[in-house]
Amino acid sequence: LLHNQVQDLKGTIRVYCRVRPFLSRQSNERSTVDYIGENGNIMIVNPQKQGKEARKVFTFNKVFGTNVTQQQIYADTQPLIRSVLDGYNVCIFAYGQTGSGKTYTMSGPDLTTKESWGVNYRALQDLFSISKERMDAIEYEVGVQMIEIYNEQVRDLLPHYASVYWLEFGLTLIIYTLDIRNNSQLNGLNVPDASLVPVKCTQDVLELMKLGQRNRAVGATALNERSSRSHSILTVHVQGKDLVSGSKLKGCLHLVDLAGSERVDKSEAVGERLKEAQHINRSLSALGDVISALAQKSSHVPYRNSKLTQVLQDSLGGHAKTLMFVHINPEVNAVGETISTLKFAERVA
Ligand code: ADP
Ligand code: MG
Repeated sequence: LLHNQVQDLKGTIRVYCRVRPFLSRQSNERSTVDYIGENGNIMIVNPQKQGKEARKVFTFNKVFGTNVTQQQIYADTQPLIRSVLDGYNVCIFAYGQTGSGKTYTMSGPDLTTKESWGVNYRALQDLFSISKERMDAIEYEVGVQMIEIYNEQVRDLLPHYASVYWLEFGLTLIIYTLDIRNNSQLNGLNVPDASLVPVKCTQDVLELMKLGQRNRAVGATALNERSSRSHSILTVHVQGKDLVSGSKLKGCLHLVDLAGSERVDKSEAVGERLKEAQHINRSLSALGDVISALAQKSSHVPYRNSKLTQVLQDSLGGHAKTLMFVHINPEVNAVGETISTLKFAERVA
């Protein structure tokens, strides 16, 4: 069954929509989500419009309502993780306006209870446990890169901290010669000079993610501000060596928490804020253009239009697999953003 699921996902782009619950709901507050259908349909009611225009239906591979658990969100992602270990490149994106639940889906609200773990942690757990299952046949090496794209500039989130980290934990970098880089060029993330840190277990990656997050905050007025205006990409590179034939395979998994998709009012934003907003809008629409060109099997895929699509070029299209979670906030005051988010998502689905 699993094998068939992987086949089904091959070369495809899947789009899932997730509706965030109300955080504190007034007793008579209405939701803009009118209903969620069985077949990936969602109907949005726009109270600012009248008659026919007030209701619109969007269709995706799946729509998850407010009562869906983190485990249920992850269930369909699992086959993709197996395919990373089979040598595929996989991208998992979280898209949506700030506050719609992107980080909740990817990381989760609270790492102390396993039930609340997001896609990132579940994926890493599976990656290591599946590689262990295959230990007798395939020897795997795993390495992690973490970058941020802010104003079309790529920043390494694990610069020399990586070596500090390894020393802190009493490990020597020298004994870890990571084949993934030595043998040939890294594939899957076109940022060859970003630190690549060898990892042995989920805990190693969690520690690196904490470091990366701390690094992301440097120079930002507030962590939340910065994290909503930059894209963060955690890439897990995997190289497997068949112990019998000696043949090698490479795959990678990108876990991408995108910048907030909200439109900034041009009359209000000035200076830095306007520049950030323009960079974000441009890169998100470039991502939409690339994915929709791939979905339509177009002969020209415009990868060069943004840093985001450039660095992920090897992992979008070809045999790569893409999963996008789009998030919406059900509050009435978010209806404009909700509709533009769903339009974006329908274009790439
Ligand atoms: P974003 O990363 O898109 O800015 P967050 O993931 O930080 O949004 O979510 C904003 C707030 O909503 C947080 O307090 C988060 O805990 C809460 N939240 C988001 N999604 C859910 C959900 N599915 N269930 C419960 N709370 C959620
Ligand atoms: Mg966030």
